[in-house]
Amino acid sequence: MGVNPLLPDAPQAESGTWTHADRRWMQEALRHARHAGAHLHEVPVGAVLVLGDRLLGAGCNQSIQRHDPTAHAEVMALREAGIAIGNYRFPDSTLYVTLEPCAMCAMALVHARVGRVVYAAPDPKTGAAGSVFDTLISPRHNHRINVDSGLYAGLSAHLLRDFFKDRR
Ligand SMILES: [Zn+2]
Repeated sequence: MGVNPLLPDAPQAESGTWTHADRRWMQEALRHARHAGAHLHEVPVGAVLVLGDRLLGAGCNQSIQRHDPTAHAEVMALREAGIAIGNYRFPDSTLYVTLEPCAMCAMALVHARVGRVVYAAPDPKTGAAGSVFDTLISPRHNHRINVDSGLYAGLSAHLLRDFFKDRR
């Protein structure tokens, strides 16, 4: 059962040219997503925040468990990174997340001055990188974030589909 993200032919539906580091970190985000779904019974979304080749923070959805509507994977990764480096801004960092960020997380990423966001699957219900809202990509922010998408999109979508299928 499940899908092994480490299979060499795993990438699919890609829109960009991905580096080895991109693949490695998105695989790590997928690992956190899988953990959320399989062990925490949370919607399987995972995120990692990376600076250079250093992992600053990681997280997965924990809203139900923590009774916290803001405990999305991106926010959890930002919180962990803030504690780790003793700062609330992360210029030049990259956030890898398995699902298109919502408006709340998109704004948090702008506040955090994250340099780049890579997300796997689009979220047609709440995505804020263009699917529903444009928060993450709005030119009106004084901080601009580079956004790439589609890396392991099929794997992430599969994980989400399986999760909701099992709950029915
Ligand atoms: Zn969110």
